[in-house]
Amino acid sequence: MSSRTPTWRSIPITNLGTTKTTVLNKTGDWRTFRPEVDVDKCIQCGTCVTYCPEGVIKIADMGVEIDYYFCKGCGVCANECPVKAIEMVKEEK
Ligand code: SF4
Ligand code: SF4
Repeated sequence: MSSRTPTWRSIPITNLGTTKTTVLNKTGDWRTFRPEVDVDKCIQCGTCVTYCPEGVIKIADMGVEIDYYFCKGCGVCANECPVKAIEMVKEEK
């Protein structure tokens, strides 16, 4: 294999809160269900931040914040939350 041939190692890691799918494409428009955090259950472990494929969750002073302009409603955060503090609620459009 040529040294110029790209491998999986050359693919940038994007799930580190550094980027959204695209800044121009507000993926929040895709959403059918939206994640809502129960602040009384949340232990601020950061698991949802790590797993969100869009990098749109952060832990702020007031707790977990989700950027709904870019959250696409995939539900990964709710699935991975160890204390089930995130509920996927149907969007009303
Ligand atoms: S994974 Fe659950 S408990 Fe952990 S920070 Fe996210 S919402 Fe809170
Ligand atoms: S549903 Fe959760 S994991 Fe999926 S994009 Fe929205 S915040 Fe991220």
